[in-house]
Amino acid sequence: MLVYSKIKSLKDKISSLKKGTHIGFVPTMGALHKGHLSLIKRAVKENDIVVVSIFVNPTQFDKKEDLVNYPKTIDTDLSLLKSVHCDIVFTPTANEIYDNNISSQDFDFDGLEFQMEGKFREGHFNGVGTIVKRLFEIVTPHNAYFGEKDFQQLQIIRKMVHKNKMPVKIIGCEIYRENDGLAMSSRNTRLSEKHRKAAPFIYKTLTQVKSKFNTESISEIKNWVIKEFKKQPLLTLEYFEIADEETLKPATKVDAKYKYRAFIAVFAGKIRLIDNISL
Ligand code: AMP
Repeated sequence: MLVYSKIKSLKDKISSLKKGTHIGFVPTMGALHKGHLSLIKRAVKENDIVVVSIFVNPTQFDKKEDLVNYPKTIDTDLSLLKSVHCDIVFTPTANEIYDNNISSQDFDFDGLEFQMEGKFREGHFNGVGTIVKRLFEIVTPHNAYFGEKDFQQLQIIRKMVHKNKMPVKIIGCEIYRENDGLAMSSRNTRLSEKHRKAAPFIYKTLTQVKSKFNTESISEIKNWVIKEFKKQPLLTLEYFEIADEETLKPATKVDAKYKYRAFIAVFAGKIRLIDNISL
């Protein structure tokens, strides 16, 4: 497994590959867990060579505290990547990526950016768009893998690729969960013991939402979720939304022509957790 931190070295390596070599790419922020590894394993199966980036992108953090406290486990990450047969790891510094100008480009994602996460994390998706576009230019992948865990991000990247006619196929991968249902996340390691115990309630609620979806109205379901979270002393609901999978606009009633998903963001103490489920 090769590890590069310089753009030039990585680009030289990529241009030395035999013509027609299929490159799979998995961008990450490190602190890798089985969720990340499920994306990488799929990329290994579907491509000739797999590049994984580890970069905690400063421009997508709206809270400095979250950026500073983001877990960093580079040695463990590298051995995990080796164990799943990753070929190349890219670990740039912020200055290498941003050339001493750490700022985001402004994007128009046709309104996807104003829903849910966009309302609560200012500038987040401009930061995501900026880094993913930059990494795509450097890595030039044929296929890029993103988790449905960050479903809004996945749809935004699909939109960016489509609007800019970028030559990469975006592949969405299922959410990988702990045995108790909690969606795996690098942030889970920052949960206190009691918050970790309380957190599976999030997915439990989503599964109940799924079963209510056929029989109850959207406003009934929303009110029920709000009420359930009020009974949880360790969890604070930030938002719960049922939205159209394509436009991410909140649904008010159900039309059989469209697909819907329930989205949720919850604070467990100071740690913000997100999850979603297809309905
Ligand atoms: P992150 O390191 O949090 O930026 O995540 C890197 C990629 O892994 C993103 O595409 C995430 O959506 C994906 N990912 C993170 N957690 C999970 C999970 N539990 N299941 C599936 N994909 C995930």
